[in-house]
Formats: sequence, C-alpha cells, structure tokens
Amino acid sequence: MWGPVSIEGQVIQPGVRKLVELPVAELPSGTRIHINVHVYRAKKPGPCMIIMGGLHGDEINGIETVRRILTSKKLEKIKKGMVIAIPLLNVYGFNNFSRSLRDGKDVNRSFPGSKNGSLASRVAYLMTNSILPLIDFGIDFHTGGASIFNFPQLRVSEGDDKALELARIFAPPFILQNKPIPKSQRKQAMSMGKPILVYEGGESLRLDEVAIQTGVEGVLRVLNYHEMISVDVKPGSSAEYSRSTWIRASKAGIVNLLSHAGQEVKKGQRLAEIHNLDSLKRSYIHATRNCKVLAHVNNPVVSRGDALFHLVFNG
Ligand SMILES: [Zn+2]
Repeated sequence: MWGPVSIEGQVIQPGVRKLVELPVAELPSGTRIHINVHVYRAKKPGPCMIIMGGLHGDEINGIETVRRILTSKKLEKIKKGMVIAIPLLNVYGFNNFSRSLRDGKDVNRSFPGSKNGSLASRVAYLMTNSILPLIDFGIDFHTGGASIFNFPQLRVSEGDDKALELARIFAPPFILQNKPIPKSQRKQAMSMGKPILVYEGGESLRLDEVAIQTGVEGVLRVLNYHEMISVDVKPGSSAEYSRSTWIRASKAGIVNLLSHAGQEVKKGQRLAEIHNLDSLKRSYIHATRNCKVLAHVNNPVVSRGDALFHLVFNG
C-alpha cells in the first residue's frame, strides 16, 4: 500500500511535494533552528531514497550538491517512489564554519542519539526515529576535513552487498570498502538494513566543481536505475579498493606535494618534499607500495605525524 507518510506529525500524501521544517533547537539568543526536509512523492509506489548534505556543517560541497539537485527541478518529475532531500543537516555548524555543534559534539558520532541529550544527540535521534525508518537507501555527502582533499569517492561498509550494488550504480571514480565508524549514521542505517553510502569529495570550506558534479551525476544515475526519474546522464566507471593507509609527515616544516589525489603511484615514488625551517634541509616522503592517491593534505604547514596522503590498494 502506498498511503500517506508522516514526518514529526506532518503528513505527506502520494503525488505531493512538501517542505517539512523540522524544529531542532533554540539558540541562547532565542533564535530557533530548524532543518529543511524536502519531500517528493510520486503517485506510483517505489523505493524511498534520501540525499543529504551538511551533516558536518563546514563540508560545503555536499550542501551545494543537494541544493543543485533541488534547483534542477528534476525531482519534481518523480515517476515512482519518494525522495527525501536534506541539503543542510547541521545548521548550527554551517553558520559557524564548523564541522560540529556548539558544544563541540559531532552529529556523526552521536547515533542513534537520544531525545533529551545534547544537540548533536537530538539531531541524531531525529534522523534515527523520524527519517531513517522511511527510507530504503541513500547518499550522505561529505568532504575531507582538516584541510584534507578527497578525490570523489564512495565509502561502503564491508560486507554490505546492497551498499556495494548501490555504489556501482552511482559509479564514482573510486569506491572504498571499509568499516563504518562507531555511532555514525552509516552504521546506524546499516543496522536498520538500509544502506547509506558516504560520498566524499573535495575539502571542507571549499567548493570543488568536479566533486559537486560527480555527486549530482551519481544521484541521477541511481534515480534513473530505479526508474524514479528519467534523465540523460553520462555513464560513470569506478575503481574499487578494499584497503587503505595513511602516510604521515616524518618531519615538521612546509610540505610541497609531488603527487595529487587520483594519481597512480609506484612503491618508492616521491610523494612530497618537506622543507624544515630550522635545519633548512629537505626530506622526501615516499610511497610505501604501488597504489592510488585517494586524498592529500592541502595545508602546507605540517608537524611531524600529520596526515599527508591517504592511499588505496587491494590485496
Ligand atoms: Zn564529513
């Protein structure tokens, strides 16, 4: 049966497009914060997909990706099923250029959340209890944090065949299978049998056109595949990886990158040079194996031990 659905008491009938404003918090000033939830329902039954951005408030590419999909009006022609689009989940973080909330808590480490907990915990609770029960699958858009630039990629939970199938339909340049982070939304959704893929593209507080466009096209491929919409979108192809490692700075100083995200590198190849300001010596960072560069740091000022490169490989 394809009847009405309800989000926090707001009813959405089949064939209806509705903006649901979910109240989440009140700032010390008394200003109220709400989350905009755009719901598109076809008259015909079908799957329910969520697309969302801004779970981390400073990861702007994801917010822009969902905004572009909304303003393209393609969802208004939905033929079957339902799309729930949340362009910005962490409203507070976005307004403060911050990944987290006012108390420093990370929504994506607060699942399943609690009704009377911290703000992060209450936002997680709202997702767990009011949104996730409605969906079948979805994409959660992120970027690298702390000046890390991520080549466009999907993160898929190990052993989650439904998620891997969905990732292959989305077809980003890279698919990485790894363990979901404890208390993350991806882990919570997986425990409810609903694959949510984590898309990573670009870095926080920066717009990256390739990452945004790759994200938009991936969503359209998934919607096309499920016959929820019918649009022209070019095919994509993915390289799949099951293992990854971080390369860290061996010295402090100013780092000059010699390779970039998306590149294939060979064992022993120079990835970067670090110029020490005290000794005025130069040291090199080498690839520890044949692999591809999934991500790199963009901030040139590094301390010993800082993450420089995220490398992916198989076997
Ligand atoms: Zn994130």
